[in-house]
Amino acid sequence: MNPARAAVIGNPVSQSLSPGIFLFISHHLKISNFDYDAEKVEPENLDKFITNVKKDQNTIGLNVTIPHKESVLSKLDQLTPEVRLIGAANVIQKSKHRLIGHNTDVHGIERTLEKHKCHITGKRVFVLGAGGAARAVAFVLGTQKAKQVEFLNNNFDRAEALSQSFAQAFPTTQFRAISQLPPEKSTDPIHLLINSTPLGMKGHPTTKKGELASDYFARFYDSLSHSISKNAYAFDLIYRPEQTPFLLTAKKLGITPMGGLDMLVEQAIQTWRIWQGPHPELDRIQSQLMDYLKHRPLFLSGFMGVGKTTIGPILAKKMGWQFLDIDSLIEQKSGMSISQIFETQGESGFREIEHKIISQYCLKPRTVIALGGGALSILSTRKMIEKSGQLIFLAAQPETLLERLKAQPNHRPLLKKILAKPNFPRIDPRTDIDAQIVHLTSFLRQRETDYNRAPLRIDTDNLTPEMVVQQIVEKI
Ligand code: NAP
Repeated sequence: MNPARAAVIGNPVSQSLSPGIFLFISHHLKISNFDYDAEKVEPENLDKFITNVKKDQNTIGLNVTIPHKESVLSKLDQLTPEVRLIGAANVIQKSKHRLIGHNTDVHGIERTLEKHKCHITGKRVFVLGAGGAARAVAFVLGTQKAKQVEFLNNNFDRAEALSQSFAQAFPTTQFRAISQLPPEKSTDPIHLLINSTPLGMKGHPTTKKGELASDYFARFYDSLSHSISKNAYAFDLIYRPEQTPFLLTAKKLGITPMGGLDMLVEQAIQTWRIWQGPHPELDRIQSQLMDYLKHRPLFLSGFMGVGKTTIGPILAKKMGWQFLDIDSLIEQKSGMSISQIFETQGESGFREIEHKIISQYCLKPRTVIALGGGALSILSTRKMIEKSGQLIFLAAQPETLLERLKAQPNHRPLLKKILAKPNFPRIDPRTDIDAQIVHLTSFLRQRETDYNRAPLRIDTDNLTPEMVVQQIVEKI
């Protein structure tokens, strides 16, 4: 039977956590016939993509991210009431060739408030931002009958338009756009502050005017200090980093923080229910999924001899994580050395075993995993690794590699194979260093395309293992 298929579509999507989340869910529910990928779709190709999805028998749904959340609506057959009012869908369900647009951010926000026992009925709420996520926030605040909601946004007109449309839909709640801080005096204290802008997210360190997020939020809370209730909550929709400037400042002021990871996990679980129906295990795996997302594995890739098994344990120790070396696990589990597996089952047999072993460990939180030099050459293995954790390329020049490799050539079947290739008959592994380097360089070039896909590359040539670890910790 062909696997059921889903994907996240948008641009950019390469750093999306969704493929890892759905790999985690399907793995823990023991559902093997389910595939999920990240698909980069440019705006001009959205129409064609959606038409193909309608025709494709195996696709059961899509996640939709920037820039298609709004533009996709006109291509769908049915919209939920939330989607109609919010004007954006983040999930598409395919039901008998019909496409139904959902907004699971609403569910994620509701469940986060519920989990933290943050009750907003009859309360005053202050919201930063007026984009798509702020509209989902407004929907929840309206349905839960908050008393008063103020929106502050760079672009005042956008906040004004949002307030007006939600004021019409939810007459019990007073929605208002404000143009600057502090807001007008009100008898009601603010019970909940929400950041629905990317300010403070990885890659968004400053306001549009160039002020540092931490400085901006210090000013923000200061100007609201007389209006914030004693039992107030602060909810940042951002999930990377976990401790955002918005939440760190709130904490210092004794305000209860709520991060965006709860919302992310809740909306993903809800998405699974929409596509695949309820499952008794879904609630149970939620806390495990959260733990995994906070501590996704780090994969060290690179040519053999680059130092993955030296650097890995030092990195793991520094992070308080465990270290796993895939080659050692393969030897332990198969009861054979890597050389024996190559000799008896060939490279393809070895790659199959390698794929199986990686699939058993790739979703383990708090793990540093050293990959074999050729692990990324198999597409299905590479995709599984890219979905489940952060891939790091440890690079080195051929001369450095050869020097390091010479220390232990017997454990390196591929090196022996490379140096013994018939089209390089002149090479004597003990003496002909130049020819070996030429050969190694050409082999390295073939693999470098795979290695270079890693979002993080560390050039290790002139660095000690400790220095490499330091760079990794600073950059991840
Ligand atoms: P969006 O539609 O692009 O809206 C962004 C909003 O933030 C707009 O109001 C924009 O102001 C404002 N903004 C942009 N850059 C800013 C900056 N540097 N300083 C201050 N304000 C800025 O994005 P969105 O979909 O609403 O997403 C907003 C945030 O929510 C993102 O960080 C996203 O990751 C997060 N989110 C989290 C979840 C979750 O599951 N946890 C789900 C959805 C979204 P203008 O109107 O003036 O441009």
